[in-house]
Amino acid sequence: MVEAAIMTEAKRIDGKQFAETLVAKVANEAAKIGATTGTAPGLAVVLVGDDPASAVYVRNKIATTTAAGMRSIEHRLAADTSQSALMALIDQLNHDALVDGILVQMPLPPQLDELAVINAINPDKDVDGFHVVNVGRLATGQPALVPCTPYGCILLLKDQLGDLAGRHAVVVGRSNIVGKPMAQLLLAAHCTVTIAHSRSDDLPALCRQADILVAAVGRPEMITADYIKPGAVVIDVGINRVAAPDRGAGKFRLTGDVDYAAARRVAGAITPVPGGVGPMTIACLLRNTVVAASRRHGVIIDDI
Ligand code: NDP
Repeated sequence: MVEAAIMTEAKRIDGKQFAETLVAKVANEAAKIGATTGTAPGLAVVLVGDDPASAVYVRNKIATTTAAGMRSIEHRLAADTSQSALMALIDQLNHDALVDGILVQMPLPPQLDELAVINAINPDKDVDGFHVVNVGRLATGQPALVPCTPYGCILLLKDQLGDLAGRHAVVVGRSNIVGKPMAQLLLAAHCTVTIAHSRSDDLPALCRQADILVAAVGRPEMITADYIKPGAVVIDVGINRVAAPDRGAGKFRLTGDVDYAAARRVAGAITPVPGGVGPMTIACLLRNTVVAASRRHGVIIDDI
């Protein structure tokens, strides 16, 4: 008698649904702050130039902010804006009592110094968590505003696994906005953490050690099934636009850094792209704005 092979598929981690629930909680806490201070938390978004992808992100951020009952303050500047003009705006927003969070959409046009701009933001309004003070606070275990994408990943992981203590996490990618803060957050959650990058030897073997595998590389479907330990939880941060000729000439589709279909046959749980980590990023931006507002106004809110 021939037994049929039993194929199990990894659980699909629904980041979109999780993000909707988080935004609802954020809206609740924002309303508490509004009731105490008389003003809903406010997020200032600065967009320099007319990069179409940035314009789409900013539009989504503004729509989600207002849908959560928060105030959105927009500043759209010309592509040829000077460093001094942008720094003057940041200074104005730092001192504006009605602004709780400041986000400067990256990338900036080439004449502008991104690092100088990030470090000019008041760290207590730095809702992206990129200011060197927040990086230091995170690394030393002090209350920080934490980068939104990695924080979203941690929320998804805790929802899947509960306590993360003792798990071996491998983070592929070491950027300041994803890889490094991701590793810090996993360390803070008592994981054993390996950070891999483009110079790491035998990446598949490294990744196969992971109970938690986070891919933040920017290379479409680079992580294949043979990088994954059976049963591992895989978080795919990558958002890559690849040509999709089957959808018509010049059409694109979004894909992650993980070969989802193949990985799903090995992993225990996995985030899809789109619909995984992406929606969590905006939800965590709003969460950070509410946290920043609660600290600034001394209003106690629930842990979100
Ligand atoms: P970066 O380009 O800044 O960093 C990529 C990292 O991947 C680098 O550390 C690089 O190593 C490493 N890397 C590149 N090639 C390889 C390779 N062949 N093997 C191993 N490591 C490699 O990207 P980001 O961190 O900004 O973003 C990563 C991905 O996440 C992108 O697809 C981006 O679009 C996406 N993203 C998604 C977000 C979301 O909301 N879901 C938010 C932010 C980013 P090295 O340092 O050695 O060069």
